[in-house]
Amino acid sequence: MKQSAPARALNGGPIAEEIRREVAEETARLWQEHQVKPCLAAVLVGDDPASAVYVRNKVRAFAELGLRSEHQALDSSTTTEQLVSLIRTLNARDDVDGILVQLPLPQGIDEATIIEAVDPLKDVDGFHPVNVGLLAMGRPRLVPCTPAGIIELLDRSGIAIEGAKACVIGRSQIVGRPVSQLLLQRDATVTICHSRTVDLAEVTRQADILVAAMGKPGFIKGEHIKPGATVVDVGINRITDVAQARSLFGSETDERIKAIERRGYTLVGDVHPAEADAVAGRRTPVPGGVGPLTVAMLLRNTVGSARRRRGL
Ligand code: NAD
Repeated sequence: MKQSAPARALNGGPIAEEIRREVAEETARLWQEHQVKPCLAAVLVGDDPASAVYVRNKVRAFAELGLRSEHQALDSSTTTEQLVSLIRTLNARDDVDGILVQLPLPQGIDEATIIEAVDPLKDVDGFHPVNVGLLAMGRPRLVPCTPAGIIELLDRSGIAIEGAKACVIGRSQIVGRPVSQLLLQRDATVTICHSRTVDLAEVTRQADILVAAMGKPGFIKGEHIKPGATVVDVGINRITDVAQARSLFGSETDERIKAIERRGYTLVGDVHPAEADAVAGRRTPVPGGVGPLTVAMLLRNTVGSARRRRGL
């Protein structure tokens, strides 16, 4: 069944901007009242170009808000022991409030050891087992940024979570699991789907709020979506093929093909935009939906961490 009007876009940009303004105000207050200026230490290992862009954007966002940040770049031959040693130094520095180790790490570095080496009070990505455990217990402290951003996006767009049937597709540590926990915390009835789910569409079609975090371009089609549902598309996938772009983008096709011709690719989420728009009530676009919230929540986590560490 289709719905009559196309899905409305849930744009993350203005909401991220609102959160940045709040963080800027909070930062100014921290300085005036306590002479504290929060500081993030971002660590990039190896030469993955996408990771380098992410770290650069995060560091720039901190500078724009008058927060401090420093960026440590290590080459891909770095060992687990060397990285742990750097993290210990950052843990011990009183002026560092947040530590972010950009993932994925190069092969040969043990990711779990690195995540566990970060002081849980400085773990602004919310990946440390202590923070994961607190979230699972319903006592969230430092929560992963993208999932926290999704909840802000829903709340500030006036979408009721309490009592809603929510379905999350994906069970990763970074998105699927934590966003499921947050939705549960907010009294949604949550179903988690993954690569072994049998008859995915049958399950996802029940959902008032459908969160897709799979890493599969345009996988979620009209048949997966309940008419009028809110669809949150977390996926970020590059499309380089013009024919594939034609099959995905509906009325946006021309501008997407121009983007491919101009820079070699265009981005699509895990949701098929043209099909979803014929069925869903609201949908987060890619780019411009969930993405902008991630950095905004990192800023907020770091300021929260600066306060919490000083008992303010
Ligand atoms: P991941 O690869 O760690 O996890 C993917 C999950 O999808 C797995 O749990 C898997 O079981 C599930 N899955 C895969 N195929 C499936 C299928 N056919 N049916 C049902 N479930 C299936 O990925 P991730 O780190 O969670 O990221 C997911 C997507 O979100 C990626 O495109 C990533 O780039 C994007 N992402 C975006 C942001 C952002 O800021 N917007 C942040 C993190 C990740």
